[in-house]
Amino acid sequence: MEDIKMTSTKALYAKLKPELDAAFSAVMASMGMEERPQVQAFAESIATHLQVPHATPCANGTDALQLALLSLQLPAGTEVILPAFGHEAIAATVAGVGLQPVFADVDMQTFTLDPASVERYITPATGAILAVHQFGQCAPMQELLALAQKYKLWLVEDVTQALGAIYVGEDEKERKAGAIGHVGYTSFFPTKPLLDSGEGGAAFTRQSELAERMLQITRNGMDGKYTFNSRLDTLQAAMLDVKIKYVEEYNEARQEIARFYDNAFAESELVQAPHRATYSSQIYHQYTIKVAPEVRNGLQQHLSDNFIPSAIYYPHPLHLLEKYTSGKYKPGDFPVAELLSQSVLSLPMHSELKEDQLGYICRHVLTYVKQRG
Ligand SMILES: *Cc1c(COP(=O)(O)O)cnc(C)c1O
Repeated sequence: MEDIKMTSTKALYAKLKPELDAAFSAVMASMGMEERPQVQAFAESIATHLQVPHATPCANGTDALQLALLSLQLPAGTEVILPAFGHEAIAATVAGVGLQPVFADVDMQTFTLDPASVERYITPATGAILAVHQFGQCAPMQELLALAQKYKLWLVEDVTQALGAIYVGEDEKERKAGAIGHVGYTSFFPTKPLLDSGEGGAAFTRQSELAERMLQITRNGMDGKYTFNSRLDTLQAAMLDVKIKYVEEYNEARQEIARFYDNAFAESELVQAPHRATYSSQIYHQYTIKVAPEVRNGLQQHLSDNFIPSAIYYPHPLHLLEKYTSGKYKPGDFPVAELLSQSVLSLPMHSELKEDQLGYICRHVLTYVKQRG
């Protein structure tokens, strides 16, 4: 059996190599670096992919979030509600642009914002809700959009982990994740669904006024007092413009792997496979299981002892990180986020996992939890 890796892009790269090499050579030969036509071309490709009229590429996901927030022109100190269970960079970036992160709890099944918890934390100082499409599946956008309308708030979407996922509203209409709220953004960091590119990000919107502001901010490098200088590299744009055509294929390949895991864990009450929401497709950016908190760390150690990598996303609920607590939050405030951070474990997930490897992983997971459970 080959070594098991958490992620892998070797086969995908081999397949795309001729196209990527041609794109690379074209950039190097064009001498058109300053005009950056590849960046414009990629901006159009990602906008088309997400079914939004406007996309503004930039240097990484954190910058893309800044761009999205700056385009809203919220007064300093405005509260932005975001999930207590998630990527820390999101909360840090909200605080970094002078806004106030306010946390809400998440749903135990989908790991995404719980609209009832969000509503509890809306105050006259709230300006936006930041929904994160966690691990490959959409947040409940219809409910969040209804809250945004009711309280006149902006709805921002982080589509980094669910690029290509499809949301189905009550009207049965299919929408691409990222094209539902007022502004969306994504990262193209190597571990994200576009796989093995370099640094990159983009913000997008359906509103031309916001798009115009984003363009101005990236062009002038300034938004009032705030300095912003963030560009997507030309070479990176050319590589991404090749890869974006294969997003669906990557996503389907991971869904195939997920079916293997799902079948293996279906019979066990001690391992909860990721839930599939009825309103969203699931592209399995991560395959995240839940086990009893008492066995989680031991399970990870057991897997590691048997050469199976795994990861804990996310080990700390954000509201309990010291820099955000400042007397405002305490253990117990967001019970779901707290329980999840003790129960989740992400297993290897990529299109090159073989059946013998998958069988080996599942056997080790099941044997361990049975002994301990
Ligand atoms: C990785 C990640 C980010 C940050 O993106 P960078 O390109 O690393 O700045 C933001 N949001 C989510 C959900 C992420 O997974």
